[in-house]
Amino acid sequence: MNKTNIEWADYIWNPITGCTQISDGCANCYAKEITEDFQSKGSFKYRAGFNTVVCHERLLNEPDYEKEPGRVFANSMSDFFHKDVLFEFLQRIFQVMHRNPHLDFQILTKRADRLLELSPHLTWTDNIWMGVTVENEKVINRIDQLRETGAKLKFLSIEPLLGPLNNLNLTGIDWVIVGGEKGRNARPMKKEWVLDIQQQCEEQNVTFFFKQWGGRYGNGGNLLNGKTYMNFPK
Ligand code: SF4
Repeated sequence: MNKTNIEWADYIWNPITGCTQISDGCANCYAKEITEDFQSKGSFKYRAGFNTVVCHERLLNEPDYEKEPGRVFANSMSDFFHKDVLFEFLQRIFQVMHRNPHLDFQILTKRADRLLELSPHLTWTDNIWMGVTVENEKVINRIDQLRETGAKLKFLSIEPLLGPLNNLNLTGIDWVIVGGEKGRNARPMKKEWVLDIQQQCEEQNVTFFFKQWGGRYGNGGNLLNGKTYMNFPK
């Protein structure tokens, strides 16, 4: 595992690489950009390119070597519930998470339908935080699918936020992260959209984390009306 500068995690653990784009949030996928960069430099791990999902057996046990507590973002370079990730491999990842209770594992997916389908066949311990990405209204149903799973801690990654998200039903949701898109093709995020989500979290008693404004140079900071919101679920 490597240390990460992602604001809400301490480590990243990537036993799976490769993915395919599925919704608007994927248009400027950073995992694609990084994979293609590494591939062009001859990296063994990324030699299959971005559109081929590869499960890396040799990277499965990495968390076993981390003795300090921390938050681990599991799979920043793929989508955990991509159809090409065999259920047997997912089960083995879950076994690694089960035997490392001092680490909290943060899993994110845009494939909430497969997550829901497989959820009853997986064992959800307290240290597995399950999240779905919700970038705009078109994919709001991912929240309902997440709600139906057996995950003990459920969260939303609203990043990149691409439009207003009014009337969110946050029942059963523990944590909401909001962030803007970064990079040369970054799409804009309006302040009023962020404030509206923050207010909905407050009204529905859900922990709110504001990651950053994003932007072309990613230097917009993380102040929202002069305050930082870097809160974690209890
Ligand atoms: S699901 Fe995630 S990793 Fe896969 S293409 Fe979309 S943004 Fe990239």
